[in-house]
Amino acid sequence: MDDRNTTVATAAGPAIGGERADPRPRPPVEEVGDVALADLFAEPGCPLCRLRERSARRFVGSFLWESVTDVDFRERLARGRGFCPEHGGLVLAIDTAAEGTPVGSAILLESILRLRLADLEDRGRRAPRPRRGRRAGDPGAVDCPVCEQVDVAVAGASARILDLLRLPAWRATLAAAEPCIPDLESLDRLASARRTAAWAEVAAAQRARLVAVADRLAGLVAHSAHDRRHLRTRSEVAAVGEAAALLGFRASTDG
Ligand SMILES: [Zn+2]
Ligand SMILES: [Zn+2]
Repeated sequence: MDDRNTTVATAAGPAIGGERADPRPRPPVEEVGDVALADLFAEPGCPLCRLRERSARRFVGSFLWESVTDVDFRERLARGRGFCPEHGGLVLAIDTAAEGTPVGSAILLESILRLRLADLEDRGRRAPRPRRGRRAGDPGAVDCPVCEQVDVAVAGASARILDLLRLPAWRATLAAAEPCIPDLESLDRLASARRTAAWAEVAAAQRARLVAVADRLAGLVAHSAHDRRHLRTRSEVAAVGEAAALLGFRASTDG
């Protein structure tokens, strides 16, 4: 399955109102894995969010087709008590799209449901305790195996990206990239921990990008009074969607 064609637009996807359709210059690759890494920067939007989405789809696809009955995978799923809300939804969506009736999901859901039922029964037998800490149904109570895979992929990619910053073309790619703020912060922390000197140049370009978005938001606000609305630009209006994507907001289906 080519996940590039089935990528769901997320908040970190192409910025709302973004008009760029430029094929970006591909930075040089040194290792086989760098090809997929460079590919993350080929389109607008956050490259690490794109990696999260691609690696989650790849992993979910692999266990749906190959290891729904695999003992190690089933044990991992049981230990974690299921999937997080996002990845549980992804499992169902991928399985339903491919199979119509999601039988692989049914196998996994049955085992999770029986475990959670057993947990509930255990709790029922114990004396009531004050409601503290984890609650049943709290997504925090789940240790999702897809999140674990995705975190490993993002950690590996982040470390490799910082290694590649010794090459000017990669510094230019990173400077022109559009990471969301949470991912920018995590790259920034990693660069400090690893003392990646080349990060300073990227960080300066990224700060300038964020300032430009904030300035366009300020422009929109300044041009919101009735008598000034004619001064409003498309770029100022587009800044709202861009800022929301930068902050990792997700489009709501409500409204
Ligand atoms: Zn991101
Ligand atoms: Zn998850």
